[in-house]
Order: sequence, then structure tokens, then C-alpha cells
Amino acid sequence: MSHPDVIVVGGGIGGLGAAFSLTRQGLRVRLLESAPAFGEVGAGIQLAPNCTRILDDYGLLDEARSLGVVPDAMVMRDAVDGEELTRLDLRDLERRYGYPYLVIHRSDLHGLLLRACERAGVELVNDAHVTSYENTVGGARVTVASGGTHEAGMVIAADGMHSAARGLLVDDRPVSSAYVAYRGTVPADQPRVKSVDLSEVVVHVGPGCHFVHYGLRGGAMLNQVAVFESPKALAGRDDWGTPDELDAAFARTSEFVRDGLPFMWREKWWRMFDRDPVMTWVHGRIALLGDSAHPPLQYIAQGAIMALEDGWVLGEHVARNRAGDGTVDWGAALAAYEAVRPEHCRRVLTTSRTWGELWHLDGPARERRNALLRARDTYDYGFTDWLYGPTALTPDQEPEMFTPIPLDSVSAGDAVPAGEAA
Ligand SMILES: Cc1cc2nc3c(=O)[nH]c(=O)nc-3n(C[C@H](O)[C@H](O)[C@H](O)COP(=O)(O)OP(=O)(O)OC[C@H]3O[C@@H](n4cnc5c(N)ncnc54)[C@H](O)[C@@H]3O)c2cc1C
Repeated sequence: MSHPDVIVVGGGIGGLGAAFSLTRQGLRVRLLESAPAFGEVGAGIQLAPNCTRILDDYGLLDEARSLGVVPDAMVMRDAVDGEELTRLDLRDLERRYGYPYLVIHRSDLHGLLLRACERAGVELVNDAHVTSYENTVGGARVTVASGGTHEAGMVIAADGMHSAARGLLVDDRPVSSAYVAYRGTVPADQPRVKSVDLSEVVVHVGPGCHFVHYGLRGGAMLNQVAVFESPKALAGRDDWGTPDELDAAFARTSEFVRDGLPFMWREKWWRMFDRDPVMTWVHGRIALLGDSAHPPLQYIAQGAIMALEDGWVLGEHVARNRAGDGTVDWGAALAAYEAVRPEHCRRVLTTSRTWGELWHLDGPARERRNALLRARDTYDYGFTDWLYGPTALTPDQEPEMFTPIPLDSVSAGDAVPAGEAA
């Protein structure tokens, strides 16, 4: 490809999604990834209907279904006594929003998007670490570590939480939550898996900790995630999140939860950071997308989904601002993208923080939370409509492909009943 229309920096879920979305609009896209090979680390990821509707539009939903699991329910339990607090009926949820709630292995989702990009003709370049960004007269340019440059009408920085491009827009740092996540998978032949209902996504919420599990790959494995607040992090130490802290954090939890801990990968853990929301994502012809724009805490499981939504919305606005001769009004497309996405993502970021605080309560506050959650009607969607419902293209306009649902009943309470992490 001699001269691409768009350069996407970063080959994570966000970058691949954006590259596919723009390529299917007829643009020539070059994707630059710093790693020597494409891939994803970690185990499961949850994809709510606001994501599966996009996969469906991309023609990728059937493949995603075949690789993942469509669970029957999402259940929240108290991690100390194991009592069920509330649940979402995911089959009914699918009827309400028109698309399924899916859980899938991260590498399967990433591989699916990578194959879609290859088929669509995205130029995929590895070992290309972008070191700087600049606007040019007709577009934008990036420089890679080897010294070469790449120029296009628009540059999309999908370079993750530690984005170099973000520094063009804001001088900020990742915010530590002092929480850390352990992940692990258990093969289906283990007795541990036989004690679990693989048709459910379950989150056990406890004092300063929570534990999540669900089935992956058609029930061939159980995915588990254990998250806790690190005393060493709170004390300002650098060596935080170690396995001894994992065991101590879950000492008060139920036998079922504690029995899951030996299956966690103990040599690797994920410290949980997010960033404060920013409302400006576009600098000339350079735009942030995915975690570079809005890395969340994972409590409502929307980080990768927001990244895929960003790419879809951007593709739609590029299409709307493309003349008959193929030229794109990049400024108009980027302005429309920036008009609609930051407010939604701000709300997800702040809700994720609040939702995590609610999960991790102790003492009388934990009792009050449990009483409120037990009182919730399983079929009350008042707190999920804003999140799982259609993604507006502009603040006052819904895309025709989405079935409108009543959003006027949604309060600004910013909470969801049973989201989860990883
Ligand atoms: C424990 C945990 C559980 C989660 N669970 C969920 C969930 O259930 N559902 C959900 O939707 N989200 C979830 N998330 C969030 C989700 O994983 C992220 O939000 C998402 O993966 C971000 O994708 P991204 O492509 O924007 O960024 P990244 O995945 O960080 O990708 C960035 C890419 O850019 C490349 N790169 C970086 N710098 C450069 C450079 N200078 N030049 C070239 N390439 C570069 C990197 O190598 C990488 O490939 C979870 C996160 C965590 C930590």
C-alpha cells in the first residue's frame, strides 16, 4: 500500500476493530503494532449486547458465538456467605436488547478480529513502535523507532493505557486503584469445574475483594478472576499484589471462593489502573481510541467494548463525510466522533469506579448493599438500558440499524446490577 488513507497505531482489540470498521467503508488502512506478533494476554472477556450488535453488523457474530459461550444468567453473590444477591436473566436480556451476552477467550476475540482485518485487506505491520505523532498540511504523520515515517489523512492512536499520543491532549497519569487482578483457567475435567454451573457468569462480591467465574470455549474450561485491594499498595510499597496478598485477601470468603484460588496463575498479576475522563480526544487529524482515550476499571466489563464502539462510530462518521469521489472530510468525521463518544465513556469510567466501591463494602454498609440488591427485581433493566442499549451516533440521533428502546426511564444513577471483571 503506497499511501494509506488512515494509519491505526496499536493492534489490540481497539485498533483491530477500528481498522476493520474503516476498511469496510472502503478506506486503505495501515495498522502499526509495536510487538513482533499480534496477540492478547489474559483469559476471558465479556461482551454485552452493546458489543455483540456491532459484531453482528460486522458479520462476525456467528463466529464469535461458535468460539464463546452464551450464558443463561449473570449472578451476584456475597463472597463471605455465598448468598445470591441479584441476577440478570441473560436470555431475557438478549430479547430486550436484540443481541446476546457472550463470554469469549480474549485470544479468540483478538484472532477473530485479526482474521477479519486480513480478509478485508488491512495492511498489518509488526515491529513498528511509534515514537512520535505530528499533524501535517494534509493529514498526520507518525515516526517509528526504526526511524521511518508513515503519513495519512488521519491517524488513530489505539495504543492503550500508556498511550504516547494522549500526551498531545492532556498531561495526566494512570490512576492506581490499589486493586490487583489474578486470572486463571481450569480444564473441564477438574473436579472444581464439576462444582460450577457453566451456564452462569458469577461474581462473588466481598470486603475489599471479589471473585468471578464463567465457562469458556463451549464449556471446555472455566475462567476465574480474583481481584483484591493490596495493603502493600495502600502503604505506598512498590512490590504490591504478590500471591501472599492474594491468599490473605480472600481469607474471610466462602469455602467455594477459597477453593478457586489454587487455580489462579501465580506468576503474573494485573495491577488495576484507570485514568480520569477526558473530553477532548482529537488533535488535528490525530484521534485517540480505546484505552488510550478512556481506560476504565473493569468492574462493568466495558473497556474492550467501548474500544469497539469507538471504531464502529468512527467508521459510520467517515462514511457520512465521504464525497462521491471518495474524498473524506476528516475534520468533520473526527468532530462528529468527538461529539458523541467522550460523554458516554466518561459515564462508563465514573460508573466503573463507583460500582467497584459498592462491590467491596464491609460491615454495616455491606449489609445495606445486600438488602438493596436482594430487593431488586430480576427483570428491572433501569440500570442497564443506558449501557447495553443502542449507541447513538450523535447526541440526538440513533443509527437506523439499532432497534430503539425506551431510554427515558434511565436515571443518572450510573450503576448496573451485575457487571463484572475479566
Ligand atoms: C482484568 C481485566 C478484565 C477486563 N475485562 C473486560 C471485559 O470483560 N470486557 C471488556 O469489554 N473489557 C474488559 N477489560 C478491558 C479491556 O481489556 C481493555 O479495555 C481493552 O483490551 C483495551 O483495548 P485497546 O486495544 O484499546 O488497548 P490495548 O489492548 O492495550 O492495545 C494497545 C496495543 O497498542 C500497542 N502499542 C502500544 N504502544 C504502541 C506504540 N507506541 N506503537 C505501536 N503499537 C503500540 C500494544 O502493543 C497493544 O497491542 C478488562 C481489563 C482487565 C485488566
